[in-house]
Amino acid sequence: MNRKAGKITLIGAGLNGPLLALGLIKRGFDVDIYERRPDMRRVKISAGRSINLALSTRGIYALTEAGLWQGMQPIIIPMKGRTMHAPDSKLTFQAYGKDESEVINSVSRAELNIALLNAAEAQGVKIHFERRCTGIRFKKRQLHLRDESTGRESDVEYQVVIGCDGSASALREAMLRLNRFNFSQEYLNYGYKELTIPAGSGGKHALETHALHIWPRGNYMLIALPNIDGTFACILFLPFEGADSFEGLTTKALVQAFFQSRFPDVVSLMPDLAESFFANPTGTMVTIKCSPWHVGGQVLLLGDAAHAIVPFFGQGINCGFEDCTILLELLDRHGADWEKVFREFEEARKINTDAIADMAIDNFVEMRDRVGDRRFLLRKQVELALEAKYPRQFVPKYAMVTFHRVPYATALERGQVQERILAELCQGIERVDDLDWTKADALIRNGLPPMESA
Ligand SMILES: Cc1cc2nc3c(=O)[nH]c(=O)nc-3n(C[C@H](O)[C@H](O)[C@H](O)COP(=O)(O)OP(=O)(O)OC[C@H]3O[C@@H](n4cnc5c(N)ncnc54)[C@H](O)[C@@H]3O)c2cc1C
Repeated sequence: MNRKAGKITLIGAGLNGPLLALGLIKRGFDVDIYERRPDMRRVKISAGRSINLALSTRGIYALTEAGLWQGMQPIIIPMKGRTMHAPDSKLTFQAYGKDESEVINSVSRAELNIALLNAAEAQGVKIHFERRCTGIRFKKRQLHLRDESTGRESDVEYQVVIGCDGSASALREAMLRLNRFNFSQEYLNYGYKELTIPAGSGGKHALETHALHIWPRGNYMLIALPNIDGTFACILFLPFEGADSFEGLTTKALVQAFFQSRFPDVVSLMPDLAESFFANPTGTMVTIKCSPWHVGGQVLLLGDAAHAIVPFFGQGINCGFEDCTILLELLDRHGADWEKVFREFEEARKINTDAIADMAIDNFVEMRDRVGDRRFLLRKQVELALEAKYPRQFVPKYAMVTFHRVPYATALERGQVQERILAELCQGIERVDDLDWTKADALIRNGLPPMESA
């Protein structure tokens, strides 16, 4: 594509905005990003909004395409599997993948965001901080902006604008007022609270470093992801109301007692537990679906702005980065025929983002309830045994989503067939050695054609 291919305006310099900007500027576009927050490289981000993310194959592919992944090694920690902490503090480890190459990577959201901002600016992307988009005039192709430090309002013209402004997108809000715009949002009755396990003696991690730690407790759970500074970023997922819930935890003493009885092995590792619990906000989790994602060839929604999902498959940003990959591929194929690019982008992506949204909800039940269950662990072992014998046919759903780039909708569909096969093969057996391989062979041959990209 020629230099000076045109000007693109992005809203939001979170995670997707700068990555997409990099791809666009490499293709010859001038890119401006308007971001409502101050520059996080200069202002400390507020406590309890730092979240660690698990980066996996789809995200890594996009970062590699942007030339960034190798340089990110110092800020990531590979996690080989889940370490489950039972109420009696007994530990069980379950590998995520079939071998050491199948890991997920813990990264602090802030570190990742900073790396993306630096890379985008180094390539010439102009990022305007503290400029909140408050509206859009589609006919005039004008964005309405407010300077968050002075309160001054202004309008800027755009040729093409892409909303990377997250789950509370202002652009999507404006599109709601257009004819026949479909929109749904569904909140979980659960909230989340960020907490920290400080580094242990000598700056070392207080728990096994290369694992995602889970304390599954039926209808709620605690998780912990390692940070490069020796700390663990923890998230407590708890119902808002009911027996064990946020509404019941009203005093420091109650919080301390709750953790002491439910997560006894963590309490001694979190000296500031009760203080942090009340200092940090309680987050909400929502699934957002909408369509269309674009207004002709002038406006597009991407990432959480188009499809926010709950975090239990660790795919939100992996999915958003995959959006960037697909959009850039379409741009390479069609050039700046934006209407066509946006239409084909939505056609390619919506079915898949709907699928991962549904799988993310299902995975919540698995993480909080089933990962500690003996039968569940047996099924996981059987899955890995089937994958070893039939690597092109039987790829566990978790692996299809996390370690492959097969479309999410395919992972959902094949995952359902595999669930039925697994249920049949695990019936009445106690050990993976008891597996009936003749039956497995017939079920897989009849039910699962080889996967193209496996
Ligand atoms: C608890 C939790 C855990 C998660 N864990 C994972 C995980 O393990 N793996 C994973 O892949 N994903 C995970 N996610 C999801 C991931 O964080 C999101 O999918 C991702 O941040 C979306 O990126 P985005 O760029 O679309 O939006 P955001 O990262 O939300 O960025 C949007 C940006 O737009 C700016 N903005 C908003 N409104 C305006 C406006 N009006 N004007 C100007 N700027 C605006 C915001 O300030 C922000 O900087 C998790 C999410 C949560 C809540």
